[in-house]
Amino acid sequence: MINGIIIVFVGLVLGSFVNALVWRLHLLALRKAPSSPDRLTSATNSFSSLDVPSGTSPSDKTVFARADSLWERGILRKSSLQSTKHPKKPDNKKYSIVSGRSMCPDCRHQLAWYDLIPVISWLGLRGRCRYCHRPISWQYPLVEILTAVTFITSYVYWPYSWSAIGITLFIVWIVSLISFMALAVYDLRWFILPDKIVFPLVGLAAIQIIMRTVLYGEISPILGGLIGVVTLAGLFYALFQFSKGQWIGGGDVKLAVALGMLAGGAAESVLLLFLASLIGTLVSLPLLLSKKLKKNSRIPFGPLLLMATFIVYIFGSDIINWLKLYYFY
Ligand SMILES: [Zn+2]
Repeated sequence: MINGIIIVFVGLVLGSFVNALVWRLHLLALRKAPSSPDRLTSATNSFSSLDVPSGTSPSDKTVFARADSLWERGILRKSSLQSTKHPKKPDNKKYSIVSGRSMCPDCRHQLAWYDLIPVISWLGLRGRCRYCHRPISWQYPLVEILTAVTFITSYVYWPYSWSAIGITLFIVWIVSLISFMALAVYDLRWFILPDKIVFPLVGLAAIQIIMRTVLYGEISPILGGLIGVVTLAGLFYALFQFSKGQWIGGGDVKLAVALGMLAGGAAESVLLLFLASLIGTLVSLPLLLSKKLKKNSRIPFGPLLLMATFIVYIFGSDIINWLKLYYFY
C-alpha cells in the first residue's frame, strides 16, 4: 500500500517532468531553425489540422485562435519576437532540456515550488497561471495522471520477479515509460517522434533485453528481441518504402526498433500491431461519426503503438497464453 502511494506520487512528479521535457524539446527544435518560418507554420498547421475543420487556411487569425494553451502561445510569442525588428539572440541556455527553472511561457514569470505540484496546483489555480491568469491547458494534469496510471499499473501487474534484477528492470521500464509519454504527447501535437527521445528509448529497450537474459539465465530474450525488431521494424520499413512515407513516417520505423525489442517476440509483435489497430479504430470511429475527424485527417500512429506496447509488455504473456488455451489447443 505504502509502495503504491509512493509510486503514484513519483508518477505524478515525473508526469510533470514529461510536460516540461516536451515543451523544452519543442522550443529547442524551433530555435534550431529560428529564421525559417516554414518550421513554425508546419508545426502550427499540423496542430490545427487536429481540431480545425480542414480547408481552413491557417491564417494568423486561426493560428492565434487555436493558441489556447500555454505551449502554443509560448511558441508563437517566441517566434513572433524573432521575426520582428528586434531579432533576439536565441538564449539556448534558458531552454536546455533539463536545467533551468520552469516558467510560465506566457508572462515568463518564474514558477514557485507551489505552482509546480502536479495536478493539485492546476486544480488550486483553476487551470490558470497565478501571475498572468491566462489559462493553462488541461493536458498538463492529464499527462501527469496518465503517467501515474502507467506506473501503478506496471507495479500491480509486474510480470517479472521482485528480485534485485527484477527491481532494476522495473526502474528501467519506468524510465522507458517517461519517454513513452513524452513521445505520445509530441506525436499528438506535432506529428513528430523526435530522435532525441526515440534513440535513448532504443538504448533502454536493449538494456531491458540484457536484463531479461540475466533474469532468465538463457538467451531466449535476445532471440525474442531480435525477432521482434525484424517483425515490427521490418514491416514498418517495408510499408514506409512502399507508400513513400505516406502510410507510415520515418519516425515510426525508428520507434518500431525499440518497440520490437520491448515486445520481445514474433507473436508479441503481431499482438502489438493488432492492439494498436484496435485502439486506433475504437478511438477514431466515434470521432469520425461525430464529424470531429475528417476521413483524410492524419492520425498519429505513435501513441497507438506506445499504448499497445505498454499492454503487451505488462499483459502480453497472459494474453498469449489465454489465446493459446482457447484458440490453438
Ligand atoms: Zn503567466
